[in-house]
Amino acid sequence: MNIILLGPPGAGKGTQARILTDERQMMQLSTGDMLREARTSGTEMGKIVADVMDRGDLVTDEIVIGLIREKLETGGAEGGYIFDGFPRTLAQADALGALLVEMDYKLDAVVEMQVDDEALVARIVARSTCSNCGEVYNDQMKPIPADGKCTNCGEASEFKRRADDNEESLKTRLMAYYKQTSPLIGYYYAKGDLRSVDGLGEIDAVAEEIRGVLG
Ligand code: AMP
Repeated sequence: MNIILLGPPGAGKGTQARILTDERQMMQLSTGDMLREARTSGTEMGKIVADVMDRGDLVTDEIVIGLIREKLETGGAEGGYIFDGFPRTLAQADALGALLVEMDYKLDAVVEMQVDDEALVARIVARSTCSNCGEVYNDQMKPIPADGKCTNCGEASEFKRRADDNEESLKTRLMAYYKQTSPLIGYYYAKGDLRSVDGLGEIDAVAEEIRGVLG
């Protein structure tokens, strides 16, 4: 099964993608994670994207499509792919469609996670990530364990706030979502692929709703 998780920053795409990878042996392809990795690796591409990401703008379609192509060509997903944070523009959606056809894969569903803006801001400013495995925590909904050990990897890890999880770049990220990414809701609705879930609930309740729409 190949699916796209679609929704604004802070909707819980990464959290739900990790649950799906555990349950269904799917592979999470997060362009945000790939770009964060690129910027810490000190490559030329990493330097180019760092400023863009910190501002909250989108990096070029060419770069992210290239990253996704590379991952799909490497393969290795037994249970299929979860596209998390990709596509984010109509050009990326078209490119993904062409890539899937080229590789003889099918897109099974696009899960739209609906969350209102106020909840997004509250979630994002409270978010932190295990620097060892990427598990996402939230000060209210899923606090960092008192013993400092990640519940996913068990390491006594550092829990980091993302550089772009601040109110200023969040405004830009939300604007980018509404201007460039939200048209994908209509695009996939017209194709008959769209399934919408309420992303506001508790993590387990949202996971259950996603199981329901995926069948
Ligand atoms: P995310 O982790 O999905 O919130 O992405 C973090 C940042 O990486 C975004 O604010 C963008 O700057 C960049 N980014 C991630 N995915 C994409 C994409 N598909 N297209 C363009 N920029 C992206």
